[in-house]
Amino acid sequence: MDLSHILFHLGEERARWEHAIAPPVFQSSNFAMPTVAAMREAMAGEYDAHLYTRGNNPTVEILRRKLAALEGAEDALVFGSGAAAVAAAVLASVRAGAHVACVAKPYSWTRGLLRDFLPRFGVETDFVDARDAGEVERGLRPDTALLVLESPNSLTFEQQDLAAIAALARSRGIRTMVDNSYATPLGQSPLALGIDVVVHSGTKYLAGHSDVVMGALCGTRAFCEQVFRGPYMTLGAILSPHDAWLALRGLRTLEVRMDRIGASTQAVAAFLAGHPKVRRLYWPHAADEPQAALTARQLRRVGGLLSIDLDTDLDGVERFCDGLQRFLMAVSWGGYESLALPVAGVRDWRGREAQSAVPVTLVRLSIGLEDPQALIDDLAQALERI
Ligand SMILES: *Cc1c(COP(=O)(O)O)cnc(C)c1O
Repeated sequence: MDLSHILFHLGEERARWEHAIAPPVFQSSNFAMPTVAAMREAMAGEYDAHLYTRGNNPTVEILRRKLAALEGAEDALVFGSGAAAVAAAVLASVRAGAHVACVAKPYSWTRGLLRDFLPRFGVETDFVDARDAGEVERGLRPDTALLVLESPNSLTFEQQDLAAIAALARSRGIRTMVDNSYATPLGQSPLALGIDVVVHSGTKYLAGHSDVVMGALCGTRAFCEQVFRGPYMTLGAILSPHDAWLALRGLRTLEVRMDRIGASTQAVAAFLAGHPKVRRLYWPHAADEPQAALTARQLRRVGGLLSIDLDTDLDGVERFCDGLQRFLMAVSWGGYESLALPVAGVRDWRGREAQSAVPVTLVRLSIGLEDPQALIDDLAQALERI
C-alpha cells in the first residue's frame, strides 16, 4: 500500500458519508441499537462494534486504521495523550512481581511511570544503557516481562539496535515496546525489525500542528484487544472524535511536512556544526555521532530535533534563548513552528536526575516548517549574543 493511499483513502468510507471528502466528526457518545439482538451482539463484540465512544467511534477508527497501516501493524489504538499510550502498553504487560527493563534516558513521564508509580503495585524497573545490546542482556532477569525502548530519545538522541534487542528479548519471551515518536513510521519501522509494540506521542509529528494532544499504540490485534479490555476501557484515556478528526487532517501532510523538516534540519545542522559558540551538536546524523553506523542502518529519515551544547555559561544560555526571534520557547516539539527548549529552564521543576546526565548548557531545537534561511539567520544573531 503506498503512503498517499494510507494517508488519503484508507479507512474512509465516503460512499456512506454523502461522498464527503473530509470525514464526518461522529460527535456522539453512544450509538442506538435497532434490536435487542443487535445490542447483544454489540455488547459481546465491543472491540469491533459502535456501541459507546469510550470504546469505539467511527471517526477515531479511521485514525486507528491509518496508524496501524503506517506502522505495518495488525491494529492500533489511540489515546488522549502519548503518556496514556505508554502507560496502557506497560500496564497491559506487567503484573505485581514483574520486572521491567528500560532505556537509561526515556521520556520523563515514561521514567515517572516506571520509577515512581509502578513500584507501588509491585512492579520494579531497572534502567539500562541500551546503546549496548550486551548491557541490555545483563539487565534482564528471569522475571523480566517487558523491555521499554525509545530510539532515538528526544533530548540526546541515543539509539538502540532494535533488531538485535528484539531477537534477544524474543528468545526469552520478553515483550518489547519502542517509543517511535522521534522517527515517525516514515523514518523507522520497529515492528519489521521484530519489536512487538510501537507507541507514539501523536502530539508531535503525527498530528503535527501543535493543536492536539494524542497518543497511539500499534501491535498485533490480540495485544490491542488485550489493551482495549484492560487499561483502555478501564482508565478511559481516549481521544475525542474531534481531536481524532484534527489528527487525521494533520496526518494528510505527514510526508510533505517530514520532507521539508528533514531538509531544513540538515541545513540548520550544517550551520551549527561549524559554529564556534557550539561545543557539541547532538544529532543522529552528525559527522562525529558515535552511533553513526546504527543511524545509517536503522533511521531512514532526518527528523527535526537536534540539541546544541553552547560554549558559554547559564547567563549565556539565557541571552541566546531570550534573543531568539523566530524560534518560540516551549516544551513539546513536532509542530509546524520551530521551538527552543533550554535544559536550564526545565531542570528545576522536573526530572532533575533525568537531565543531570546532560550539560546544563544544552538547548534542544525542534525545526518546523519556516523558511530554513530565516531560522539560520535567527540562530546566527542569537549566538552572537552569548
Ligand atoms: C511528548 C512525548 C511523549 C508523551 O506524549 P504526550 O502526547 O505529551 O503525552 C512520549 N514520548 C516522547 C518521546 C515524547 O516526546
